[in-house]
Amino acid sequence: MIAYLGRIVHDNDAEPKLDDDVSSISKSLDLQGSIENGDVSSLASKDFGGLYSVKPLFLIKPSGAEDISRVVKLASRTSNLTVAARGNGHSINGQAMAEGGLVIDMRSTEKNHFEFLPINGSHYIDVSGGALWEDVLTRCVSRYGYAPRSWTDYLSLTVGGTLSNAGVSGQAFRYGPQTSNVTELEVVTGKGEITVCSETLNSELFFGVLGGLGQFGVITRARIKLQQAPDMVRWIRVVYSEFEEFTRDAEFLVTQKEGESFDYVEGFVFCNNDDPFNGWPSVPLDPGHEFNPTHISQTAGSILYCLEVAFHYRNSDHPTVDTAVNGLLGRLRFVEGLKSQVDVSYTKFLLRVNRAEEQVKANGPGDGPHPWLNLFVSKSDVVNFDRTVFKTMLKDGVGGPMLIYPLLRSKWDDRTSVVLPEGEIFYIVALLRFVPNGPSVEKLVAQNREIVNWCIKVGLDFKLYLPHYQSKGDWERHFGNRWSRFVERKASFDPMAILAPGQNIFRRDPSNTIISREF
Ligand code: FAD
Repeated sequence: MIAYLGRIVHDNDAEPKLDDDVSSISKSLDLQGSIENGDVSSLASKDFGGLYSVKPLFLIKPSGAEDISRVVKLASRTSNLTVAARGNGHSINGQAMAEGGLVIDMRSTEKNHFEFLPINGSHYIDVSGGALWEDVLTRCVSRYGYAPRSWTDYLSLTVGGTLSNAGVSGQAFRYGPQTSNVTELEVVTGKGEITVCSETLNSELFFGVLGGLGQFGVITRARIKLQQAPDMVRWIRVVYSEFEEFTRDAEFLVTQKEGESFDYVEGFVFCNNDDPFNGWPSVPLDPGHEFNPTHISQTAGSILYCLEVAFHYRNSDHPTVDTAVNGLLGRLRFVEGLKSQVDVSYTKFLLRVNRAEEQVKANGPGDGPHPWLNLFVSKSDVVNFDRTVFKTMLKDGVGGPMLIYPLLRSKWDDRTSVVLPEGEIFYIVALLRFVPNGPSVEKLVAQNREIVNWCIKVGLDFKLYLPHYQSKGDWERHFGNRWSRFVERKASFDPMAILAPGQNIFRRDPSNTIISREF
């Protein structure tokens, strides 16, 4: 069914002619930034996934919100141009691309905002939508001794890119995802309007944009909640052979009050063998630590589980850290003898995946495709998921980390555009595949599809995180009873369906009528 939402008439706007002369377009747009021809080899035609490549018309490096507004308004005066904000292009399925459209490189705006704001006893930082989280971290900690509360595991992602999805890591059980830790945004809507929004000001736009997959506006500034940064982190991994014991302990930790648990809780699945990527060697935190498999019971299966936790402390707290950490570990049922721990600075801890990436780049075969799959699975279905997906379909691993850890729905704001499974506790599952050799990319993509199809077939309570669907029916199912709200937000803030075409949710129609994506 085609959902007709409204018609925008532009009788007084003559359609601008877009030839290949970038300097004349730049001049007519009065851009402060720069513009380049689109090219298949350009940054804008690629992403981290390496599965899709499309050629944009132009790549624009704006100087700020005004430039972005001009670009969106230019697109609105044509019958077919679309606009994609590109953060750091770490999407998997072409979500930041625009075929034949205008791609905005948000990184060119990364230095526009950086203001530390003490407000009524709390602390915030205003940062650019195009800023990388790694820069936000290092600048905040070194200048002010404060840091955002909620992170992603890897920090070479932009603020606008993760806020358009959710932004999840091991702190989210306590503070919610990154979308729960922002109090104000400046957004350029699909009408080209520059709008400041918050919980109380233009709130529908504010909540729409958070987790909105780039559909309602381009985030040019975000105000992020801060906490005092600890000096150090005790980072610990412990091992389980039984899924039920792993989930019992992980759920126990994420449901304790602040001050009575760890500050970070994650977990992963690994293979009960010596495979360097997915087996025992993936567990020790320090190359000096050896994984001793003799501690694993003979009756253990081919899959094991690792709980990863971290405890924040200040240098002056050092004498009490052992007591606090040992008290918490004493309540867990991991396999004796399989504990690995290190003490690292807070920034080193948060930059751990960036460091691992540098090591892989230095030693590895270079950038291959990354057919990753991320899901949220309800606690009520996670044992079934473990049995069918981890213990059966993926029993030999995925050539990279297979994360799984619990999150609490009450820490997410239902008014944002993110959709979640039912029930208070759900698990994030991330299959982070690297494919230097081994099965073909097509086989891995097909395996991802098989997993999603199985979840749908057995009626699992799940949602894709960083969703990627091809048909309108799939998007409707994904959003469930939130679909009509999502469509209404589109009609209000991007009625011509100009923004984020690479998400494949809405299609721009030459008649300037919004048509829900149909294939
Ligand atoms: P892009 O890929 O450039 O863009 C993503 C989408 O957001 C596109 O639709 C784009 O148009 C839109 N967009 C980009 N910038 C803006 C903006 N300023 N305003 C509005 N829309 C915008 N996610 C987690 O939650 N936790 C993790 O721990 C985590 N780790 C990751 C590790 C790696 C190595 C990778 C590749 C991804 C990881 N992700 C993680 C996923 C990541 O959060 C998303 O892929 C995110 O979109 C990437 O940010 P980006 O800046 O590269 O966005």
